[in-house]
Amino acid sequence: MFKLSIVVPCYNEEEVLHETTRELSQILQGLIDDEKIASTSKIVYVDDGSHDKTWQLIDQFTVENKFVTGVKLSRNFGHQGALLAGVTTASRDSDAIVTIDADLQDDVNAIPKMVDEYLKGAEVVYGVRNNRDTDTAFKRNTAETFYKIMGFLGVKLVPDSADFRLMSQRACEILLSYHETNLFLRGIVPLVGLKTAKVYYARKERFAGESKYPLRKMLKFAIDGITSFSIVPIKMIMGLGFFIVLISIFLLIYTLVQKSNGHVVSGWSSMMVSIWALGGVQLICISVIGEYVGKIFSEVKQRPRFTIEKDTYTEEK
Ligand code: UDP
Ligand code: MG
Repeated sequence: MFKLSIVVPCYNEEEVLHETTRELSQILQGLIDDEKIASTSKIVYVDDGSHDKTWQLIDQFTVENKFVTGVKLSRNFGHQGALLAGVTTASRDSDAIVTIDADLQDDVNAIPKMVDEYLKGAEVVYGVRNNRDTDTAFKRNTAETFYKIMGFLGVKLVPDSADFRLMSQRACEILLSYHETNLFLRGIVPLVGLKTAKVYYARKERFAGESKYPLRKMLKFAIDGITSFSIVPIKMIMGLGFFIVLISIFLLIYTLVQKSNGHVVSGWSSMMVSIWALGGVQLICISVIGEYVGKIFSEVKQRPRFTIEKDTYTEEK
């Protein structure tokens, strides 16, 4: 029988942890009773530098609940960093890992289905939501646009799958061999390859508390996703450049013709407009390039993607 670890990133999640622990323990116990997973299976909470009682709760559950272990990061590293810390720690001795958000938006009842797919030989099992009814219209639309842009840029993503998935130990190892600092797991997991499967589930409302992804973080996440996987935006600048040069040639010819016909070109407005317009276009283009230069800057430094302060998962062994 195999050891399953459920990795749960938590950032200020004191309101949901009781319920999350209850539901996840129930799922694990059920799977153990069905003799599908080993009794050493664990829940691995990753405290991503929370400011509330999250770590105290995790610490308390570690004592009270035989499934719970915790990894405490030294500060807030973000959702992706926290996931990576959990996967790195747990994949050392787990045969398979499920990653799930702490807020119970992802249906825990999909976990046994993922396990079944794993037992049938899949090494990456995606949790795919079959509705977005519980998201706000804004979130739904922005997410849809994002997946469309990514598709247009040629990045392979599994639509409507977030960071709820099961990965075999081998898949985790491959995942961890991607060393990029700007981590966009959703984009890297499909690059792992191996046999995959999908499990559909209905995404629910957040159990309690509020989203830890405000608009600012969501935008950064989207820009990171695009610029770490595609250089099409830079290439598009070249197309834009040619287009503008073409227009300016037409304008030049037009002005010369006007002049030779003796028309005085009263050009102040058009001059002003084109100076401002071109200036704007140039600034945008430079900022796109800057985004990539920034990526290179942060990649070459090879800073750690997370640092662990405490790790009761490994201690326990
Ligand atoms: N999270 C984290 N670090 C962060 C932000 C979020 O570990 O800096 C965790 C959070 O605790 C939750 C998961 O990432 O378990 C997803 O966050 P959230 O539910 O707030 O995002 P949403 O579902 O609104 O997109
Ligand atoms: Mg959520």
